[in-house]
Amino acid sequence: MSFSHGRPFLAIPGPSPLPDRVIRAMARPSPDIYGGELLEVNRQVHADLRRLAGTTASLAMYIGNGHAGWEAANSNMLSRGDHALVLCSGQFGQFWAQTAEARGIHVERMDFGTAAPNPLRVAERLAHDTAHKIKAVLVCQIDTATSVRADIPALREAMGKHPALLVVDAIASLGCEPMLMDEWGVDVLISASQKGLMAPPGMAYVWFSDRAKARQGDLVTPYWDWTQRAAATELWQYWSGTPPVQLVYAQHEALQMLLNDEGLDAACIRHDALARVTWAAVDAWSLYSPGIALTVANRDHRARSVTALSLPHANRLRAWCETKAGLTLGIGLGADDPANALRIAHMGHISGQQHLGTLATIEAGMVALDIPHGPGLAEAVKVLTDMA
Ligand SMILES: *Cc1c(COP(=O)(O)O)cnc(C)c1O
Repeated sequence: MSFSHGRPFLAIPGPSPLPDRVIRAMARPSPDIYGGELLEVNRQVHADLRRLAGTTASLAMYIGNGHAGWEAANSNMLSRGDHALVLCSGQFGQFWAQTAEARGIHVERMDFGTAAPNPLRVAERLAHDTAHKIKAVLVCQIDTATSVRADIPALREAMGKHPALLVVDAIASLGCEPMLMDEWGVDVLISASQKGLMAPPGMAYVWFSDRAKARQGDLVTPYWDWTQRAAATELWQYWSGTPPVQLVYAQHEALQMLLNDEGLDAACIRHDALARVTWAAVDAWSLYSPGIALTVANRDHRARSVTALSLPHANRLRAWCETKAGLTLGIGLGADDPANALRIAHMGHISGQQHLGTLATIEAGMVALDIPHGPGLAEAVKVLTDMA
């Protein structure tokens, strides 16, 4: 029996499944954009996004995806020829570094493989930069390819008194992992609507401290200028033109769900549970198959929103899950052997029941395709029961 024509279920690390409430919130004609209700809804989104990031910093919103967020941050905080230190634990730091290089920023990469950025190495590097040539340290809180999580407070501490900005990409983590921008001393934070924020793709968010605002890089153009957007009072000022009307309603509804209905702490606890259930399943699958292994060995370095692993015949397994059960799994992005690697997302609007369905479908696929494996689902159920 095939369920492939039912509601498709995405377990890829973005976009994440949309809650029905969010889908319904979008189904409306465009209202007046020169005042009225939409302006109030937009202001609420702006305020809630700052609450979500634990900050009173400025916030600029853009019509765009995560790449737009990178571009906005790069061009406001840096100037041509500036030096930036990019901490890479997988693919996304590398992609971000390329976008900066393309704008004439001098990028130095520090590669940590599939481990979290080592604060000691960062401290050492910055201690050598006595001339303070490095203007910014760029890091992804979660690298979505390897599922490595960086320890942001530890990195801030490692930077000591060096004046470089700490710039964090929280595109795969905001809404899933704690982020206390002010308390942790993050200068610039980047996120987007379509992952832990449970809205459709199409909006990028950049929060920036007064210290970052003072930099005023020479790469910025009027459209990308964050100061104008952050100081907006009218809708066209917030978005530098027509607002993405229905997406604003969607984000408003999703933030209500996240901040007011479930609560951010509860959402973080849920993501932690989903992550640990996943790790238990993968560890148990690997019992009879040494080819199955979590990409990130150290538990303390693992993301709570996505899990990367190696798994023999992952490409065949992914196809089986999609055609037989309507479940889409993430590709082995950036893995040494992508055909034998996959990523299981557990970000955003995902319940325990849905996630057990994902893990059960994977296990069923391994049975059907004769991929050797241990009893992962049984272990996953145990962990979920322990946590209830
Ligand atoms: C998804 C993602 C991006 C890119 O976002 P797009 O919306 O695809 O441009 C950047 N950084 C991280 C950490 C991500 O997970």
